[in-house]
Amino acid sequence: MAYDSNNIFAKILRGEIPSHKVYEDDDAIVFMDVMPQSPGHALIVPKAASRNLLDADPSVLSKIVPLVQKVAVAAKSAFAADGVSIAQFNEEAGGQTVFHLHFHVIPRYAGQSLITHARQMEDNAVLAANAEKLKAALSKS
Ligand code: 5GP
Repeated sequence: MAYDSNNIFAKILRGEIPSHKVYEDDDAIVFMDVMPQSPGHALIVPKAASRNLLDADPSVLSKIVPLVQKVAVAAKSAFAADGVSIAQFNEEAGGQTVFHLHFHVIPRYAGQSLITHARQMEDNAVLAANAEKLKAALSKS
């Protein structure tokens, strides 16, 4: 299927809708997931247009994975997590709901299961506070 530039992350990238932004460079943006599966759930989104991993340019992937690692390390520290899950879904059958490539960084705690994917909206104030915590941890890395 072709990339559709009306998806919600393309709108965030164009500044048409707001997000709780944590980080931005020439190639990518990081912001909080509005329906976190765990406190501190962040999304790493390359600026280059692709639906998902399947149609992404490998040069985009080679730049994005080091950023995913950086955010995962920062998130583990910022949210005092025991571990971190990285998730990435491809096409509807693969669990994808927003069709612009992104990676999930989800802090994890021993013995705690995740909140269901893309189901429960978090308060803006909580998202803003978590964005600041993650930003602070990233700035130390
Ligand atoms: P996917 O299922 O495509 O891997 O994940 C899409 C993610 O985007 C979900 O976890 C969902 O909670 C999140 N999401 C959906 N709409 C918005 C939005 O408008 N803003 C932000 N920040 N996240 C969103």
